Amino acid sequence: MKKQGITISKGHKNYELMLNLQLGIRHSVGRPAPTTSLDLKTSAFDPREKVWTKFPPEGSKYTPPHQSCDFKWKDYCPVVFRTLRKLFKVDPADYMISICGNDALRELSSPGKSGSFFYLTNDDRYMIKTMKKAEVKVLLRMLPAYYNHVRAFENTLVTKFYGLHCVKLTGTAQKKVRFVIMGNLFCSEYAIHRRFDLKGSSLGRTTDKPESEVDDATTTLKDLDLNYVFRLQKVWFQEFCRQVDRDCDFLEHERIMDYSLLVGLHFQEASCREPPTPDRTSGVRTPTGNADPDNEGAPRLSKVDMDRLLSDSNRWSSIRLGINMPAWAERTVRRSDCEAQLVGDPTGELYDVILFFGIIDILQDYDISKKLEHAYKSFQYDPTSISAVDPKQYSRRFRAFIFRIFVEDT
Ligand code: ATP
Repeated sequence: MKKQGITISKGHKNYELMLNLQLGIRHSVGRPAPTTSLDLKTSAFDPREKVWTKFPPEGSKYTPPHQSCDFKWKDYCPVVFRTLRKLFKVDPADYMISICGNDALRELSSPGKSGSFFYLTNDDRYMIKTMKKAEVKVLLRMLPAYYNHVRAFENTLVTKFYGLHCVKLTGTAQKKVRFVIMGNLFCSEYAIHRRFDLKGSSLGRTTDKPESEVDDATTTLKDLDLNYVFRLQKVWFQEFCRQVDRDCDFLEHERIMDYSLLVGLHFQEASCREPPTPDRTSGVRTPTGNADPDNEGAPRLSKVDMDRLLSDSNRWSSIRLGINMPAWAERTVRRSDCEAQLVGDPTGELYDVILFFGIIDILQDYDISKKLEHAYKSFQYDPTSISAVDPKQYSRRFRAFIFRIFVEDT
């Protein structure tokens, strides 16, 4: 499958920025540092905990000579992020190779509305997002609570953050670019055939791409484009519900809103971009099962089942909540008489899928602009349909929606 995004090579407008970022990360991660315990001191979380490093092109005592422009590099709360990487079991050498190895980063065609830029490492492990100053502030404010949350709940669905940095161009430009390094939810050998960004609100929640540009595999579809519900095995479903509750409680407590559940689907039987048609028997299950009327004795395994059984033992060990999860996607249809029906009616058509999901975009807090947006929009629309509500209402609506589209497979 074609890789997403455009490789940033020489001549690309962000080529120097990429070089700066790679030099900076190599410096931050490669620097010798004492091993710290997971019990961090409060002072490590102090927002004033930042380290500035100058990167002159000719090199310095601490930095190598380089081909990019003169710049300064800032590391926010370096001890906390180093410990987070340890907690998330990221090997420092692998991390450096992913981000600063020989391969260039890829720039995604601005997938979000916020104006942020997104970059992917060539091995697809990490996603780099540029941030506004206000978002950096939110992350630093909630860092102690975030740290405790991800430490307490190994299965948390909230985005994994690995580093927070800033590049400041010296000279006349004095431009600052702040960015966060996070895990790419869709890093997998399975091709992602569909991706949905779900918030539980209906307003403006369809893909805004013109029809001609919609590529089903790489376009991020939204709530009103969703045409499946997901059936999880009982134990996974229970764990899923528990974890969504814990994560939403945490976000609500931190007064965060506007987050999404990002869901990626891999159709087991699809080697192409389209999901298989439901009347094929392998990989697609009907509610009555795949009973073979001619087979009266012990069930015989088909080649497909046998292959699946063998590959399952490898797959099993790599399954985590939200990663590589086997599930059934049941197709839904919206009634044409019902405008903006958020969840369609189930059809009984079931597809064997592997799911990837997590909670992303968790750095918007309920600041004054949201209050204004809400007041303004509620004049024009039904206030429950808009995306900017307060964090408590947001979390309630988000969970209610998520628990309608994820169900126990009975
Ligand atoms: P908006 O303002 O439209 O909500 P944004 O610019 O704040 O968007 P995000 O919501 O963080 O950006 O992400 C936009 C898109 O980027 C997502 O819908 C998803 O397709 C992709 N994306 C973001 N974070 C991740 C991640 N951790 N893993 C994989 N894809 C991601």
